Amino acid sequence: MAQISLTFPDGNARSYDAGVTPAQIAADISTSLAKKAISATVDGKHWDLQWPISADAQIAIHTMADEAQANELVRHDLAHIMARAVQEIWPATKVTIGPVIENGWYYDFDRAEPFTPEDLGLIEKKMKEIINKREPVTTEVWERTRAIEFYKANNEPYKVELIEAIPGTEPIRMYWHGHWQDLCRGPHLQHTGQVPGDAFKLMSIAGAYWRGDSKRPMLQRIYGVAFTGKEKLKAHLHMLEEAAKRDHRKLGREMDLFHMQEEAPGQVFWHPNGWTIYTELQDYMRRQQRRGGYVEVNTPQVVDRKLWERSGHWEKYQENMFIVEVDEEHAREKAVNALKPMNCPCHVEIFKVGLKSYRDLPLRMAEFGSCNRYEPSGALHGIMRVRGFTQDDAHIFSTEEQIEAETAEFIRFLSAIYKDLGFESFKVKFSDRPETRAGSDAVWDKAESALLSATRAAGIEPELNPGEGAFYGPKLEFVLTDAIGRDWQCGTFQVDFVLPERLDASYIGADGAKHRPVMLHRATLGSFERFIGILIEEHAGKLPFWLAPRQVVVASITSEADDYVHQVVAELRAAGVRAEADTRNEKINYKVREHSVGKVPVILAVGQREVEERTVSVRRLGEKQTSVQSLADVTKELGRAATPPDLL
Ligand SMILES: [Zn+2]
Ligand SMILES: [Zn+2]
Repeated sequence: MAQISLTFPDGNARSYDAGVTPAQIAADISTSLAKKAISATVDGKHWDLQWPISADAQIAIHTMADEAQANELVRHDLAHIMARAVQEIWPATKVTIGPVIENGWYYDFDRAEPFTPEDLGLIEKKMKEIINKREPVTTEVWERTRAIEFYKANNEPYKVELIEAIPGTEPIRMYWHGHWQDLCRGPHLQHTGQVPGDAFKLMSIAGAYWRGDSKRPMLQRIYGVAFTGKEKLKAHLHMLEEAAKRDHRKLGREMDLFHMQEEAPGQVFWHPNGWTIYTELQDYMRRQQRRGGYVEVNTPQVVDRKLWERSGHWEKYQENMFIVEVDEEHAREKAVNALKPMNCPCHVEIFKVGLKSYRDLPLRMAEFGSCNRYEPSGALHGIMRVRGFTQDDAHIFSTEEQIEAETAEFIRFLSAIYKDLGFESFKVKFSDRPETRAGSDAVWDKAESALLSATRAAGIEPELNPGEGAFYGPKLEFVLTDAIGRDWQCGTFQVDFVLPERLDASYIGADGAKHRPVMLHRATLGSFERFIGILIEEHAGKLPFWLAPRQVVVASITSEADDYVHQVVAELRAAGVRAEADTRNEKINYKVREHSVGKVPVILAVGQREVEERTVSVRRLGEKQTSVQSLADVTKELGRAATPPDLL
């Protein structure tokens, strides 16, 4: 028999008969590895222990200690085990597909009766039984016609359709978990008992069209989450609980910040409270930008397709653009425009007006640019993922030599802002040259090393995303980690050699000749909508005092105190505090409860005694105790707390 040579991660090579399986190799190494093995990686491909290896290769054998492979297998095996459990309980159910997703899996079923939340418990119980049986997982490659006949005979029309969609060149692979069979590419675990029975949970039921097509049958999707151990499942469920408590859509209602409605999907109706946060943040950013040497501009919303054709967006980005057709002068001829999806081309058009010299560079041009991008409705999420948003956008026109200094300056700028907004640390991801790209290697070398050395000079070691740069230049991404461990990419800094060329922007160099500027696209917060969503969830609605929309409510305990309530409100407002009166004829406890739900940070209660002594009874959000303070002291203290951090 032909021999093949397999090289292990430690560099040692061993020879085997061609067709050897990783299961045999593991057994050859040790009985304990044979038991513990879950899969292998063969020449970079995740490989079932039962699949034969026919040629020389690099091999690694995995156990549950290999988190990435273990997670994938556990989740994938659970998808099969769940489908088996469902068909054992409700045999008439038809199976479709069941992929692995982040943290878990789902499986889509065709069943006449809807699954209920109680059914999930039943299915989980059955799944645990299957796991405890420790039944072997086996696999075979079948002839296409045999597989189709098999599924026709078993009344599984979805599987027939799936097989018919598999290209003729690909094998039809079958898997069995015990007696239960499914069409599947694999790989899978050795036996059902390798799935940790205490580290998964069925989460929810949803509707989903077969193949995502609304003209095809509506299926029922069951979602599950799974990990390699019980503790990890517990941590994940805790994180979800925390996330639900902090959900900005829920807090947005409770704090009366904004709403969305179906006539304007993905567009925000900002209420006075929400708009206060928005404008406060924008005022702050505008002050920072002025200090940072930016000039602010504003550019049109509706722009003729000709500019988008020149910039390349019409070709590359059209599916995300809202197209606006207008019958110009009713000539029965439609002019085609687009709502701007980004501000970059318009900024180049401003740069091009008037002759620019090297003395004008770097030119930092900022815009709170309102953009519209078409996102599929399924992708929309509160104010975090929207169709209409405003970026804190800027483009820095510079020379190649200035890239490094501008990068360093931007990191300083962004760090100070994140710190003011309560994020002490952040991660930086660095994406370098992709396969297909514009510009010479020498220019890329220079730009990449400029971004890297500026980041390192700021004391940050970036994570590398190899080949993930845009075709027009390398980029940095700035990622915040929130209070419950979720990452949010907010800032970006992107070098662009192409757009100035496409739109023919130039400046006169010290040598008197024309040169192309480099364009640095950068955003600090990203979009106001998304960043406010992040702030709300990070602080669970208890925003820093200066950003809180309603900072103080002055509530009367008796109606005799009403005049004094209005005096207190007036004094606080004069000190720059956003204060409101609550003189409704309600019990003080009722008022306190209501404003606490609305996340008002400070409630000042006043009754007869406070009127006489010119004091207020101070209650802070989340604290049980109240303290009586003089009005003068409180006004001074809250006036200071209301001052944005950059103005202190
Ligand atoms: Zn599968
Ligand atoms: Zn841009």
